[in-house]
Amino acid sequence: MWTGGWSAADANDACARTAAAGYDIIEIPLLNPRAVDVEMTRNALGTHGLRVATSLGLSFDADVSSDDASCVARGNALLDEALDVSVGIGATHMCGILYSALGKYPRRATSRGYRNAVAAIKRLAKRAAERSDVALGLEVVNRYETNLLNTATQAMAFLNDVDEPNVVIHLDTYHMNIEERSLEAAVLECGDRLGYVHVGESDRGALGSGNVDFDSLFRGLARVHYRGPITFESFSGDVVSPDLSDVLCIWRNPWGFEQRDELASDARSFVLGMMDKHGLR
Ligand code: MN
Repeated sequence: MWTGGWSAADANDACARTAAAGYDIIEIPLLNPRAVDVEMTRNALGTHGLRVATSLGLSFDADVSSDDASCVARGNALLDEALDVSVGIGATHMCGILYSALGKYPRRATSRGYRNAVAAIKRLAKRAAERSDVALGLEVVNRYETNLLNTATQAMAFLNDVDEPNVVIHLDTYHMNIEERSLEAAVLECGDRLGYVHVGESDRGALGSGNVDFDSLFRGLARVHYRGPITFESFSGDVVSPDLSDVLCIWRNPWGFEQRDELASDARSFVLGMMDKHGLR
């Protein structure tokens, strides 16, 4: 929501605004891991006293859920690059669509593709565990953004197949609002394997202004005693990342560039209000 780039000026501005709005963690997109300067990013985080998570989705030519071995190999290489940056900047979580391309597939996943994705995440998890305590969060997204994990039920089955302790489920209310029958039931299904949460509105705009059932989400989070990060994710055509905006179909402007600070601090207040209401604090 802050910036479409990650120059030193972008990073310092995003970190300053995140801290000023009262947050203690920032999430950095890693769709192009090489675009993130590790030392500069560490400095920006340190200056503003922020923890950090990273997120990415794979591309169709570097997809670990492909049937094609060379495409899977490119996906593994991209994940390794992203892990290097995540470990380098001290990320607590590396999240997103790590198991699939981010985009609309023209057909359902094959069983071979599924097995390739499980093997890739298992491999990445072992590699991550050797190097740091970074957790890998598998983000469950809607059917137009992956053909593999659209619901918490599917994610739990996948997680059990991967069977590595440093892999967790990452839920996002924007996607849950499309695919889950109940946000609370989805959270309960994940239980203590839920490790990362994106709060986003139904139009990906201001939190609390749309039709996402946040009471249901926070009831679930309280019942499973959730203690992981909650990050606010929002998009507007006023902040354009060439990597991300087009693939997420950000064609409209639910808020303006000058409203970013207010949007961030309002979202934090909304989340804290929900946490208090449902006894999560
Ligand atoms: Mn998300």
